[in-house]
Parts: sequence; structure tokens; C-alpha cells
Amino acid sequence: MYPAIIEDYLRPNSVDEALKAAGKYDAGEAMFIAGGQSLMQAVKSRLVRPRCVIDLQSIKELKGISASGAGIRIGAMTRYVDVAADTNLKRAYGALSDAAAHVGDRQVRNRGTIGGSLCWNYVAACMPAANLAVGSSMELISATGKKRTVIADEFIKGPLETARADDEVLLAITLPAAPAKAGSAYKKWGVVTDALPVIGVAVYIEVDGGGAITKARLGVGGLSTGPKRAKGAEAALIGKKAGEAGIGTALEKAAAEIETQSDHWADSTYRKNLIRTLGADILASAFARAAGK
Ligand SMILES: Cc1cc2nc3c(=O)[nH]c(=O)nc-3n(C[C@H](O)[C@H](O)[C@H](O)COP(=O)(O)OP(=O)(O)OC[C@H]3O[C@@H](n4cnc5c(N)ncnc54)[C@H](O)[C@@H]3O)c2cc1C
Repeated sequence: MYPAIIEDYLRPNSVDEALKAAGKYDAGEAMFIAGGQSLMQAVKSRLVRPRCVIDLQSIKELKGISASGAGIRIGAMTRYVDVAADTNLKRAYGALSDAAAHVGDRQVRNRGTIGGSLCWNYVAACMPAANLAVGSSMELISATGKKRTVIADEFIKGPLETARADDEVLLAITLPAAPAKAGSAYKKWGVVTDALPVIGVAVYIEVDGGGAITKARLGVGGLSTGPKRAKGAEAALIGKKAGEAGIGTALEKAAAEIETQSDHWADSTYRKNLIRTLGADILASAFARAAGK
């Protein structure tokens, strides 16, 4: 289908210019565009009909990954290809590089951005589940210049719904400085490798000197109600070591507590099996990463 008419296309060079441009339109008339990998499909199918599209790709301050003693900051316009390659994200935050490395195909990874994925929050997307697991926060700025920070658990809501207001730009995703013995991982299963996942599972763990889990967060994507944390499983993982039977018991809890749907891609039981099997794989990777391997 041909897209509905877009009257204005603007390409500002700063966040300030982008916000001023958005402020000239009535609520909902102007939309920001990042990599366009979801927005343009929505425009073509007329799910959304923006009067104006404000392209964020020339705004340098929204791009790149930096690390400091306080943690890691990922600019919202950082593309998947760069998230996948960044060495700061390899161990404690390896779930984010895993997710970025397996989104769609090469073209999608070269255009799509971490911020675009989080703002769109598609049910089967990889980044929302991975961000729930690693416990990131979103830095936002509104048309009035007011800044706020929202934790992933509050930012990510139901399908295609987030805590971002229409006039807010997502500036960055921030991650706290992780302890030395922390690891995370993400894995998805889709009908074809290059497509959106039927189920994607991410885990973040911290372990003590003896290798037992002291903190765990587990996020699941591919659910019709939007990505969710499996908090019962997280509690059950505390104290468990790599390879112990208790890991399987915790994943049983995850499969039981997460409500899965049946659709033409997979039935509910199959989705629960995916939570168990992908969960076992990512926990093994997270333990290895936490051990510095
Ligand atoms: C063939 C194909 C395969 C795919 N496979 C996968 C997959 O396996 N896994 C997966 O997770 N995803 C997949 N996707 C979706 C892809 O990840 C999209 O890139 C992503 O959902 C959107 O990111 P984007 O940068 O393209 O954002 P856009 O499409 O440009 O924008 C998405 C939404 O976010 C808003 N927005 C973007 N950036 C900002 C910002 N900084 N501040 C405020 N609002 C903003 C826009 O207004 C829009 O509403 C696939 C897409 C395609 C086309």
C-alpha cells in the first residue's frame, strides 16, 4: 500500500532543533524517525499517519556508547551493528550485544537503532526483553526541555506502548556499573533466523566468589501481552550454581509463571518449552561471562 501523505520531512542537527520542530505541530502530528525499520512499515500500512517526520539521524549527540566509573551510556540512535560490536557490553551486558547481533538481517542491523526498538516496543522485539533483564534506564527529554529518567520496568509497557510521551525524545539508555562477577545473555528462537522471535529470553546474574547467584533478572519477549520479567524464577535462581539441578527448577517456574499465547507461529506449550530450553542456554552463557570466560 502507498503511504499516506507526509507533508513535512525535517532533519535537525541537534536535540534542541528536533524538539523545537516537534513543538510546531499539534500532539501526535509529528513523529520522530530513527532507523525507520518499524516506523516506515507502520506508515505504509497506515497504522500511523504522521503529518511530519523528524529524522534523528544527523544528531551526533544521540549516537555512540561511552563507559565511565558510573556505568555505560548508549545513545538512543546507536545502531544495532555498533551495539553488537562494542566491547564495553561484552560480559555483564552481553545480553544487549547478543540481542543486537541477532536482530533481523544485516540491512536491519545497519539501519535499526536500540532507541527505536525500545520506543516502538513491538511484542516480539529482542531489545525490550534484554533491557528488562539487564535493568537499564531511559533518559528522556520533553519539548519543554524537562529531562527525566525511567527504569526499564516502568518504561516498557504493553504492546507498542511505553512511558514515553509523544513530545519526548529518548536520549540514551544507561546501565549501572556492574560488579566484576556479573554476566548476561540473550537468545531467541524464530521460525526463520532473520525474523522476529517467537520467544526471546534474556538473563542477568551476579555471582559470589563461590559461583552462586546473588542477583538474577530474567526477561521474556515474544508474548502477546508484551515483554515480562519472570520474578518467581529470579527468586528461585538465588544461591544456585552453574549446572545445578536447581537451575532447571527455576526455569520450570519461569515457564509456569509466564503466560504464553497460541498463534499461527507456535502454541502455548511450545512457547513454554522455548522458555526452558533457551533459558538453560543463556544461563550457561551468563555463568561463563560472570566467570570472565
Ligand atoms: C526484516 C526485519 C526483520 C526484523 N527482525 C527483528 C528481530 O529479529 N528482532 C527485533 O527486535 N526487531 C526486528 N525488527 C525490527 C527492528 O528491530 C526495528 O529496527 C526496530 O524495531 C525499530 O528501530 P528503528 O531505529 O528502525 O526505529 P524507527 O522504526 O525509526 O522508529 C520506531 C518508533 O520509535 C520512535 N523513535 C525512534 N527513536 C526515537 C527516539 N530517540 N526518541 C523518541 N522516539 C523515537 C519513532 O517515532 C517510532 O515510533 C525487524 C525489522 C525488519 C524490517
